[in-house]
Amino acid sequence: MTIVGLDDTDSRTRGMCSTYAAARLADRVRDVGGRVERLLLVRLNPAVEHKTRGNAALAVHCDLPVDQAFELATELVDEVAETADDRTNPGVVATGDDLGARPEWLAALPRRAIREILDPEIDVRAPLVDGGYRHRGWGNGRGLVGASAAAGAWAGLGELESGPVASPVDWTYERLTYRERDRWGSDREVDRDAVFEVANEYYPRIWDTVDRGEGEAVCVPNTPGPVLYGIRGDDRAAVEAAAEAIESEPVARAVTFVTNQGTDQHLQTVEPGEIEANRAVRVTGEVIEDPETREGGHVFATLGFPDGEEGSLPCVAFEPTKRFRDRVRALRAGDRVTACGEVSDGTLKLEKFAVRDLRRTEPATPECPDCGRRMESAGADAGYRCRDCRTSADGKVERPIERDLEAGWYEVPPCARRHIAKPLVRGGFDAATHPER
Ligand code: ZN
Repeated sequence: MTIVGLDDTDSRTRGMCSTYAAARLADRVRDVGGRVERLLLVRLNPAVEHKTRGNAALAVHCDLPVDQAFELATELVDEVAETADDRTNPGVVATGDDLGARPEWLAALPRRAIREILDPEIDVRAPLVDGGYRHRGWGNGRGLVGASAAAGAWAGLGELESGPVASPVDWTYERLTYRERDRWGSDREVDRDAVFEVANEYYPRIWDTVDRGEGEAVCVPNTPGPVLYGIRGDDRAAVEAAAEAIESEPVARAVTFVTNQGTDQHLQTVEPGEIEANRAVRVTGEVIEDPETREGGHVFATLGFPDGEEGSLPCVAFEPTKRFRDRVRALRAGDRVTACGEVSDGTLKLEKFAVRDLRRTEPATPECPDCGRRMESAGADAGYRCRDCRTSADGKVERPIERDLEAGWYEVPPCARRHIAKPLVRGGFDAATHPER
């Protein structure tokens, strides 16, 4: 098998799209008599600053010789990529499925590109040259990072945090449909009711198709690119059948990608002292102040780490996370939680959190057992008393508080989900889940 990785063929302004370039490359492979085994859509570190939220890289797996597949890919990029846009810096890398002269480097690269910020020169270009890989970068060559990571993804994303994988790799699927060329940039004609019906019919084998709370068809993008809609799920047959069932303007082509979307591969479980900027973490601590809503509707909570001396970590649920903010607002000082999200500028941007321990009581002034009124302070360290009934108490008592949260995982709604973030409905979490749909 030959693997061609490509990245950054899209333009922010003119509506190209990396997935579309990969689909076209697959067509060209077939046009010259090759067989396409699969198309991979790999979501890399969403914190990479020069990228939009998507940060996607692609790989085409086929049976053409490496040199021929590489030529087809570079010709295609020359023709279609927006290389005149200086923010578009495509890259193409081709190798056999033995991963060439430095297989360990290439297989490790996708995991690193998902979780770290790589140096394009040191981490990528130098090993490409060193290993004699077929590669080409346009512009500043930054696309070589994603192209190389995508080339190593099929082999490299099979490792879990704890070591080599013992169970099947967590790949998911997306069926993408594309618009006819002359419609790009115009409003998409998709039957919204049909989208909601299909989303219900196939849930939970497909997910993040719609946001029922917001009434939004999440699978239909708002950007000016060629994508008409994309159906995501755990099951290839389900995403294809669901996509087929949606009524819309003519579909120019439909392609199924194997992806790492919806997997949480970007999250690393860390101790409080290990938090670094521009990485996405899972970290457990205690809420140290009741959450606060600030200007713009963003909700802030602060985690403390009472067991150590690691200071504190502000966490934020931004306004676009909508009803998720109510879950964050429902937290109270003293709750123990695991927070997940990317850390930048010293703040964790919440994607999901797990309530581990809820504070169920709070200290309160005791009530008189005879008349039921609140007691008064009897003076410093003298406890409380009721003057009328001459009853007394030694100190404050613990009063139950009503809580709007339960133990377990809460998440942002589908309308605010990052591509790589794992929807709770997919399962495999270490506590009860409260999925948004
Ligand atoms: Zn009393």
